[in-house]
Parts: sequence; C-alpha cells; structure tokens
Amino acid sequence: MSEITAEQVLDTLKMIKDPDKNKNIVELGMIAGLQIKDGHIAFGIEVDPERGASLEPLRKLAEQKVHDLPGVLTVTAVLTAERDAEKIKEQPSAEQKSNAPPNAQPAAFQKMDLLGIDAVIAIASGKGGVGKSTTAVNVALAMAAEGKRVGLLDADIYGPSIPLMLGITDKPTQTASGLIAPLENHGITCMSIGFLIDEATAMVWRGPMATGALEQLIKDVAWGQLDCLVIDLPPGTGDIHLTLAQRIPLSGAVIVSTPQDIALADARKGMNMFEKVDIPVFGLIENMSYFNCPHCGERTEIFSHGGARRESEKLGMDFLGEIPLDTSIRETSDNGNPIVISEPSSIYSESYFDIGKKIWAKIDQSKS
Ligand code: ADP
Repeated sequence: MSEITAEQVLDTLKMIKDPDKNKNIVELGMIAGLQIKDGHIAFGIEVDPERGASLEPLRKLAEQKVHDLPGVLTVTAVLTAERDAEKIKEQPSAEQKSNAPPNAQPAAFQKMDLLGIDAVIAIASGKGGVGKSTTAVNVALAMAAEGKRVGLLDADIYGPSIPLMLGITDKPTQTASGLIAPLENHGITCMSIGFLIDEATAMVWRGPMATGALEQLIKDVAWGQLDCLVIDLPPGTGDIHLTLAQRIPLSGAVIVSTPQDIALADARKGMNMFEKVDIPVFGLIENMSYFNCPHCGERTEIFSHGGARRESEKLGMDFLGEIPLDTSIRETSDNGNPIVISEPSSIYSESYFDIGKKIWAKIDQSKS
C-alpha cells in the first residue's frame, strides 16, 4: 500500500473544529511538525497552555480520525504549548508533593500504567558518543541470557541505532488488536523511535512532541510480559528527560560515562536531574575505561582510567563496572551481533554480565 500523504492527513484534520473558535484546527494553524513514516503518523497540536487540559478530547479525536485512514499503523498527536517545559521545571519536590492533597498532581505528570512490564530502567548519559547505546544493548542481552524477559526501547531521537546493533532490518507491523508488534532478535524485543520519525526532524521537534512519540512507543507496543524494559535515552538532561522521568514509572536510572573530566561533569548533571524527580540512580558505568592493545597486549589508559569510580564514590553512588575500549566491542555491535552474543565468554562480555547482575539486584531492591 502506498504511503499516506500529508494532504490526506490534513484533509482529515480539517474535519475537526476548535470548540472555542468555530474554525477547523488546520485553518487555525494549530497543526505542527507533521511526520509520516511507514504508516506511523505524528503531529503536534499547538494550544494556549491554559487550554491544555480542556482540549484533551480534541487531541483524542484527531488521533482517532487519522488512525481511521487506511494504512495507518500508529498516530501520535501531542498537545504542545510553549510553557509546558517551564511547568515541568516548576514541579514540586517530593516533600511538597507529600503535603499536597491526594490527586493534586496535574494529569500531564501522572505516571503511565505499564501493564505486564515489571520494571523499567533508563540508560542515560550526559553527552553523546560515550557508548550509551552499546552499553544498553549488551547489558539488556546479558540480562536476557540470564533468563529474564527483556525489552529494549531505543528512545535516542538524536541517533537511533539499536535496531542496527541488534541486526534488525525489518519494520514493525500491527497486531490484530491494533498495537505495534515489537521486533525481536537475540532473545529480546525491541522498538525504536527511529521507526516513527526521521532523525533530521527529531532535531527540530520541540520536547513535548518527542516525549509524546516516546510515550506512544511504550504504551502502544505489544511488549507482552517483561521482567524489564530497558530504555536507551537520548543523551543530555533536557526537557525530554524530565518529562519521561515524570511520566514513566522508572525503577531507576544508570549513567554511562567515559572517564574524562568533561564527560563526568555531564554525568553529574544527569544524576542531579534524576534526583530532582525522585528517580533512584542505580549507579555509574565507566565505558572506554582503558585500552588493551591487541598487538602488544599493553594496557593504555587513554582517558585517565578510574574517573567514574572516583566520581561515584564522591557522590555516594554505586560504581557498576568498567568496560574497556576495544575494537571487538565496536565491530560486533556494528555488524548486529553484539559481543555478549558473539563472544559470550570474552572478558568484555563478563563485564556486561556482571553489570547486568548488579542492575538486577538494584531492581529487586527497589521493589522491596
Ligand atoms: P552513544 O549511544 O553514547 O552515542 P554509541 O553506543 O552509539 O554511543 O557508541 C559510539 C561509538 O563508540 C560506536 O561506534 C560504538 O561502536 C563505539 N563504542 C562504544 N563503546 C565502545 C567500547 N567499549 N569499545 C569500543 N568501541 C565502543
């Protein structure tokens, strides 16, 4: 079936009137950032912040109308407003919240219900390129190899890479019940923001739209029963992270950092952000910790090894482990067969298994 066009989507949205203005939402210029990719449609509906909550039925109607078009797999419609991000920053602390009357939390910040998913963890980093995705993939595979049912959600809108690392080339399809069927390889299920939106557009999307798309990936995917959903977050500590931390019932977060001071400063920002929204930080992983020369066997500490361990001690965080810089780690994930699968008994895989066990212990602890 040929891809649905923007014109078809807009024509459908023209049937919806803004209840307060008696004109349709396209005419009023309220539709922003329309994205169409392989049957997945996403767009924002720009509204005044004051009207946000009252326009929820309009948002739902827009989603439903577009979903009814032939060939549409998923629709993500998000109400966007300039002041959304500010509101999130002004969230009350845990202490203030406990003094608030029951149900005082605004709807946008209520945690999502995740039926069938026992625990959700986020893998974060202060900046890109530190090996966050490589670590997320190998740790998820290590946990699955220990018998856990693991799902991996690639939420890195700036560079979704997980399907490639898992050797997945298929596109997601729809289940009979209208959910998206996740893709599967090496014993874990996977979904990626890259299936919904193009990287170039993701960069210019405002926070609320990106978070809307991510929420869709969690709630509209047939994850089934999972012991753990691992989310590979975009790098940084922006509004997207704050919203996700508010909306997704995370058991905890893991921060990946290289040992250089600058990357560690970024990692510290990440830890502060999770603490601000009451998400426990399970600990730090030092990636590209040292380099073992494959020719002479000499160990070189390219990025002043040990920084993350020292840093985590200083901050009172657990240090979860270190992964050296090694071409076999890069090559195996580049060709879709991560090292935990292709060389499970290598010393590098052992590190991932060890980290996976430590994270698992933290998840268990968080439940008790
Ligand atoms: P991020 O998710 O933080 O942007 P990636 O996981 O995509 O980073 O990794 C960036 C690059 O570094 C990739 O080419 C990856 O294969 C490589 N890489 C990551 N960790 C290691 C490692 N421990 N040893 C060698 N290469 C690595």
